[in-house]
Amino acid sequence: MTPQPVRAYAADKVFDGDRFYADHAVVVAKDRISALVPVAELSPDTPVDHYPGCTLVPGLIDTHMHFLRWQGPVFLAYGVTTVRDTGNDLPWILQCRAEWRDRPWPRILSLGPLIDGDPPGHALVAHRVSDAESAVAAVRATAAAGVDGIKLYASIAAEWIAPMAAAAHEAGHKISMHCLPHGVLVAGRGGVDEFYHLDGILADIWPDHPPGWLHVWGDPGLAKTWDRQQQVADEIAALDLVSTPTLAYWDSQWRMRLEHGPWPEERAHMPADLFKWSSAALDPALGHTWQRALKAAQRFQRLLNERGVVVLAGSDTPCGGILPGQSLWRELVLLTETGLSPAAALRAATAAAADFLAQPRLGRLAADCAADLAIVRGDLSRALPDRPEVELVVRDGTPHRPADLLRQPDDPTWRSDPWARQFEQHWTRRMQA
Ligand SMILES: [Zn+2]
Repeated sequence: MTPQPVRAYAADKVFDGDRFYADHAVVVAKDRISALVPVAELSPDTPVDHYPGCTLVPGLIDTHMHFLRWQGPVFLAYGVTTVRDTGNDLPWILQCRAEWRDRPWPRILSLGPLIDGDPPGHALVAHRVSDAESAVAAVRATAAAGVDGIKLYASIAAEWIAPMAAAAHEAGHKISMHCLPHGVLVAGRGGVDEFYHLDGILADIWPDHPPGWLHVWGDPGLAKTWDRQQQVADEIAALDLVSTPTLAYWDSQWRMRLEHGPWPEERAHMPADLFKWSSAALDPALGHTWQRALKAAQRFQRLLNERGVVVLAGSDTPCGGILPGQSLWRELVLLTETGLSPAAALRAATAAAADFLAQPRLGRLAADCAADLAIVRGDLSRALPDRPEVELVVRDGTPHRPADLLRQPDDPTWRSDPWARQFEQHWTRRMQA
């Protein structure tokens, strides 16, 4: 299918990035949206595709993911038309970003490599730094390569954060961080704009916590920190930090350890080896801890929502073996469980994401925006689906049928992609341990 000169798409409900409308149509001219109008006001010359029983939304933005080439068509099939890669091999991801328009992929934005201390958590996709000077130099070099933002990883020393943030801002970029182990408040006071996974919060709310990783949030002792959690939420709001909690990743961690396991779509559309590399053995005790951890993280995210902290939707696929696209819908459902309305959750993957990313032509259905949209079965103003039935995806004006996208031939060359090699290396080391 090719871009049509002028065509309208009509549905029972239309979400424009901010609110829902009934019986509206989006008029597309080539690769741009020309108008959002009531169906009754459409010009009789405009060809219209009607989608009764469906909701039309802007193409979704996954604000936290790590790109592998096989993911491209799967993202599109689920209505995700833009992704922000939050850490990858720099030349490789910039090459992918240059190619998206000619491939069945979403638009790609890139934060370049994970800028990390020594040793880095994921060496094959990291830029290793060892002191404040090399840390600032890494930010400048990454910015000079033409990225869309800067990402700091967990081994960055606390005292390097402020000079790195200043260098990012000087280059015109926002700076985002996976905050372990110094906490989110240190990062925010140092000038970081966005924090990932809610994980560094543990150092802020429970500095003497038992050693461990995110699942420590499932420790029953966490409840004693409730007063401190509210103070930390106040301070995060005062610092104007943005939260990208990637709850879909937390969700994967209990599913893989309990009987639930992967969704059928994950088994059907993900390469089997990636499952193997990112899975964990059945472990009911740890699985239940992870379930409690997810609930605790959602309670904290609710505190942030109540204080007006901006939240962005990101999945962290393929970490946790979660499926591109479907995992972003799951993220939206998990966000509604933190008290957001369906509209507010959708905003986190559309207009709010576009605003934070400074991409005014994305995330909205308005004149002169990119013709990126998805048509999904059901009334999304009532509830969001975590396994959506997507009828049609339009990327840059070109319509795509999800079934065709999911039938792309297998391309085994994805195994040479940087994150495939990184996952395989982590898995091999785990097996040898
Ligand atoms: Zn990530």
